[in-house]
Amino acid sequence: MSLEFKDLNLEKTVTDAIRDAGYNNPTSVQGKAIPKILNGLDILGIAQTGTGKTASYLLPLISKLSKDRSRALMPRCLILCPTRELALQISKAFSLYSKHTKLTDLVIIGGTSYKNQEKAISKSPDVIIATPGRLVDHCSKGKLLLTQTKFLVVDEGDRMLDMGFIPDIKKILNLLPIKKQIMLFSATMPNELESIANKILINPFKIEITPQGSTSNVIEQKVHIIEITSNKDMFIKKSNHLILTIENERSLKNSIIFCNRKRDVERLSKFLSARGIKNTALHGNLNQIVRNEVLNSFSSGKTKNLIASDVASRGLDIPEVSHVFNFDIPINLEDYVHRIGRTGRAGKTGKAITIGF
Ligand code: AMP
Repeated sequence: MSLEFKDLNLEKTVTDAIRDAGYNNPTSVQGKAIPKILNGLDILGIAQTGTGKTASYLLPLISKLSKDRSRALMPRCLILCPTRELALQISKAFSLYSKHTKLTDLVIIGGTSYKNQEKAISKSPDVIIATPGRLVDHCSKGKLLLTQTKFLVVDEGDRMLDMGFIPDIKKILNLLPIKKQIMLFSATMPNELESIANKILINPFKIEITPQGSTSNVIEQKVHIIEITSNKDMFIKKSNHLILTIENERSLKNSIIFCNRKRDVERLSKFLSARGIKNTALHGNLNQIVRNEVLNSFSSGKTKNLIASDVASRGLDIPEVSHVFNFDIPINLEDYVHRIGRTGRAGKTGKAITIGF
């Protein structure tokens, strides 16, 4: 018999929200993590996006926070993640799962006004969802105290490491109370992250959902080798090959096309548009408002092809991407795993095509 949410000891407000969301059974990571988080254990979870990992920590945390009625004047839970998009996505999930409670959250990310964030901090949200840099700014200005923050989630730990956030995370850890529960999630576990995990987690419960560095088996992976005679014609040849492939892939509903560099994202976007392939570009140089617009347009199906740098490759919950193209071969294995993890999600099949030469 399969595990049910009602077996997990979550508060009724939470199981009601799960029912409203239309979830039938807990996913594997949820079945493993929820009881342990409710019991107060530290967690080391190796799980990719698409496994249900966000709910695996949000559901028990909402359950715990809503039981403790004393409204603190300081945040009781902090969720750290590497990108603004992921922070907004976690906040959306939080709203969904906490809708029958009185709990509130606040997103603290770069690219938005300090003043508005300070105002929102003064309203004492229960949960803060933040990227590390902006959070440290607020703390060092004395605008935010974390002395009652007894729950810390670090999501996408490997991406945090890649983006150089570890020093900020260490600073934040020093601001938290000594007695706290830490939940660290990561798609992969590079050695450096493992040694940090060993230092900050106390007897953690370990969960590994997919073998390290492996990719989901519902993704068909292909490499197209094309002949390049000079660096000068490389971009054009790869672009033309991509267009041909897009036109020939019958099962293509929508795609994310990854480039290694922001300037190639822009260049490819213009190249495809000029040849009648509708697309939109997403990379770190765009301001927050534009990035949100691009993502909304892609998620709602208005734009069929999204051309992205690696800022978009992790953590984003974009449903039903049928194809991922690597216009450039990613620089490391972890990026490859994350990029192609955008397809073949929630039991659907997907295709990943890498253009090589
Ligand atoms: P995540 O791995 O957290 O990015 O979640 C991936 C997707 O799975 C999200 O769209 C969730 O809404 C969905 N999801 C999470 N838990 C469940 C569940 N138990 N049943 C069905 N869908 C779920």
